[in-house]
Amino acid sequence: MTAASKHSLASGKHGIHVVGGGLTGYAAALALADHGYAVQLYHHDEESVDALRTTTINPVAYGFLKSLGVMDTITGDAPLAEKLAHIDRILVTDDTPREKPLDAVINWDKPETGPLAWVVRNRDLNMALHALVEASPLITHTTARITDYKPQHPIFGHSAANLITDQGESIPAGLILAADGRNSVLRQAASIRVITRNLHQTAIVAILSLDAPHQNIAWQKFLPGGPMALMPMPEPHLASLVWSMKTEDAAQLMEADDDRFAMALDDASGKVFGGLRLASPKQAFPIIPQHAVWPVATRLALLGDASHAINPLAGQGYNLALGDIMTLMDVINAAGNTGADMGGANVLKTYAMRRWPEVTMMTMATDGLNMLFSFGKRRRRLAGMGMAVANLRPVKALAEKLASGRWFNHG
Ligand SMILES: Cc1cc2nc3c(=O)[nH]c(=O)nc-3n(C[C@H](O)[C@H](O)[C@H](O)COP(=O)(O)OP(=O)(O)OC[C@H]3O[C@@H](n4cnc5c(N)ncnc54)[C@H](O)[C@@H]3O)c2cc1C
Repeated sequence: MTAASKHSLASGKHGIHVVGGGLTGYAAALALADHGYAVQLYHHDEESVDALRTTTINPVAYGFLKSLGVMDTITGDAPLAEKLAHIDRILVTDDTPREKPLDAVINWDKPETGPLAWVVRNRDLNMALHALVEASPLITHTTARITDYKPQHPIFGHSAANLITDQGESIPAGLILAADGRNSVLRQAASIRVITRNLHQTAIVAILSLDAPHQNIAWQKFLPGGPMALMPMPEPHLASLVWSMKTEDAAQLMEADDDRFAMALDDASGKVFGGLRLASPKQAFPIIPQHAVWPVATRLALLGDASHAINPLAGQGYNLALGDIMTLMDVINAAGNTGADMGGANVLKTYAMRRWPEVTMMTMATDGLNMLFSFGKRRRRLAGMGMAVANLRPVKALAEKLASGRWFNHG
């Protein structure tokens, strides 16, 4: 019996079901198939909002995606790896006047081992993941909206949970991986509570053209309403903007014409990279961080944004989702090797407990940074002192380890 067929059987009588065809659901299905498990993947078509967005991938996430073949997959005319920008320097500053626009309070340079991180267009990453999902003989991809979940199946009892589709179909499931996004229907159906923090901030996202090349620098400035980040794109004169601010200010700027928006960009950034212009339409994303108090229920585990949608200021949301998948694979493989029920309560409890430290730390770090830097003069003075401390070698080393994904158990 081959490893693949052995694990196909180990998917259990009622199988592993992944709900959600976003970046997390696709990567989860691929990771399972890579270990030889048969997977049912459910995805419903929805207009994509990701045409403009980019994702920053840390070294651990990069290695994981590469191991699944994602980096070598051709998207359009070249492998995905050739469509990434690498980050060689990170510069962080505040709104204190400085001599030159690139003068920073904190800077990180790339280590000898390679780039600090990579930037990929969501559209390209999605295309590569989708191509691999379609090509995998172990993944059955169904277009259906899941409308409900019950912890027990009416025919199979405790041995399966019950997934219900918008066609009224009732599907027995041994293990459900819910990667259905921040408004997860499965999380709500399982009555898993979320903690939400709404500071009435919105991020404006766009692709910008730069007068001077970005030199593979990721640049971030903490402004009174929230941080402005510019991430390098593969083209030397293009950067991806994520600019967080108070929601009422974002509403006004979204109405501004291109010239007025360019003036606001130059004012806020201090004409970094020689000046900034819109190279795409702009999109607004409300920032409402939230996390599930416990990411599992009977035969159900939450992954990615369904479990935790963090503040985008550190570009870590998808890296955290890939951390969920890596941990889940460890836990499922351990169960598979001992013949244990992989949707059983003990297996899911282990997953929840192992994810708790990283998710909690990243949630606290991103919320804390945002609150400290974005609101109030006294807090901002404190933040200025904090930045000086953050630039000290040992503190930087710790922050780097957390951001690279190496702090916790994946590398
Ligand atoms: C402005 C912004 C910038 C960001 N920048 C970064 C970054 O630089 N780096 C980083 O790591 N992260 C970043 N993130 C976070 C990252 O984008 C998300 O963490 C990631 O995209 C989440 O993917 P997901 O698949 O979990 O959820 P989603 O993208 O929401 O996908 C959910 C999928 O489930 C499907 N679905 C939903 N409900 C159902 C249902 N009932 N039945 C079937 N299918 C269903 C949907 O159609 C969708 O395909 C950013 C986020 C924002 C808002």
